Amino acid sequence: MKKTIAVYPGSFDPLTIGHEDIVRRIVRLVDHLIVAVAETATQPKSGLFPIDERVELIRSAFADEPRVEATSFCGLLVDFARARKARIIVRGLRAVSDFEYEFQMALMNRSLWPEVEVLFMAPATRHTFLSSSLVREVGRLGGDVTDFVSPVVKARMDRAFERPATD
Ligand code: ADP
Repeated sequence: MKKTIAVYPGSFDPLTIGHEDIVRRIVRLVDHLIVAVAETATQPKSGLFPIDERVELIRSAFADEPRVEATSFCGLLVDFARARKARIIVRGLRAVSDFEYEFQMALMNRSLWPEVEVLFMAPATRHTFLSSSLVREVGRLGGDVTDFVSPVVKARMDRAFERPATD
């Protein structure tokens, strides 16, 4: 039987427990999941980690899950998905505010590659307020991000902001 391959694209700067929640939900549904860091962000953002470090952190966070692959891509998402035979694109939806942009992107991607399906996943309610940009901001201003990112990401953020690790 053909393997079901999905791609979960994003900036992941950094990976939060909201992203992790979505990943753990998708791997229950597919054979292989590619978490793909977009090298060309669709929305300009002030970055924290370079692309390869974001990929490395995703890889570390899912070291226990052999069906999760972390990588990066540049150019069109549908070109990357097609090349990897991933006919499912996964995006997280936190609130209505995410909807308009995500819906537009989904329809554009399907116009570009009609065989692709975009799957929207809702995270656990307790993660709906989380975004990478907010976590970056809290970290930058000296706040504790322990509850929002996995320990490996927290350690890397502490180093980036040059603070001693708490454990
Ligand atoms: P992008 O720049 O493409 O929005 P992000 O890394 O911010 O990349 O997010 C990647 C995907 O994960 C998006 O679909 C986004 O809606 C989703 N996402 C981000 N944070 C959460 C969260 N806390 N819960 C669920 N989905 C989320």
